[in-house]
Amino acid sequence: MGLVEEVGPEVTNLKRGDRVVVPFTIACGNCIFCKKKYWAACDNTNPNAHLMEKAYGYSGAGLFGYSHMMGGYSGGQAQYVRVPFANVGPLKIENDLPDEKVLFLSDIFPTGYMAAENAQIQPGDTVAVWGCGPVGQFAIASAFMLGAARVIAIDRFQERLDLARSLGAITVDYSEEDVSVLTALKDLTGGVGPDSCIDAVGLEAHSNELQGIYDVVKTALFMETDRPSVLRQAIQAVRKGGTLSIPGVYGGLLDKVPFGAAFGKGITMKMARPTCTTTCSRCWSALRRVRSIPATSFLTTSPWNKPRRCTKSGVTKKRK
Ligand SMILES: [Zn+2]
Repeated sequence: MGLVEEVGPEVTNLKRGDRVVVPFTIACGNCIFCKKKYWAACDNTNPNAHLMEKAYGYSGAGLFGYSHMMGGYSGGQAQYVRVPFANVGPLKIENDLPDEKVLFLSDIFPTGYMAAENAQIQPGDTVAVWGCGPVGQFAIASAFMLGAARVIAIDRFQERLDLARSLGAITVDYSEEDVSVLTALKDLTGGVGPDSCIDAVGLEAHSNELQGIYDVVKTALFMETDRPSVLRQAIQAVRKGGTLSIPGVYGGLLDKVPFGAAFGKGITMKMARPTCTTTCSRCWSALRRVRSIPATSFLTTSPWNKPRRCTKSGVTKKRK
């Protein structure tokens, strides 16, 4: 997020000095996917679409700070950012909410909120969330907002588990000796399993089990691209007919995923990069009415003492 310094000739809804949050997904606003409000699938903003089409069949939107396959755009967490299609993405902040609260609308809050929406939570449900980093914390807070009676949070870092507990979650530390996540989830749900599971970890999962070593070896040998131990566990843990929501990023080819269990239990799996531009507006209203969102818990601040300037090409350089 930041202040608008300069606008291009076709930008009509922003002016110099406006305070804006810019989602990390870049959308054109005019293609068939943007018109369906599926902004992360925009057809026109990835200049390297041909690379993604080879791997995925079709290309998604260009993204700030991802790989060259997603357009090669520089990351948005910089002093200056050139924003393509600026009539579409940026959300103008016109009230007095502090920067520290609205900053997360650019990525992790919509990601966690959409994860909870995709979990199809019904009032009174039990939701299990793997990964208590920023996205996981927002998924926990959002699950409660959307009606979950209980959220069970799984991680191995004490400070993250403490924060999850402060939001009202029950916590499971999978690194503790003799702790089995699957057994713990069964015990906490009367043997039924969570109604919904949220994998907020993705492709770089850690596991103390044999599968963890298996994934490390296979990825080192380039025989697998992702380490999907959380995905495997979540498929096994969710109750029959339940929903698995996946906001954690997966990139390529996964091994030993128990698809038979997913089929046999009739579970629903929902996943995607967040449709930030739409989800943002729902998060925006949540920010104004809910006080228990962990919006400032992940921040460290420091003075900006290395001024930089933006060149015409959009590349940042140190000021001489
Ligand atoms: Zn588009």
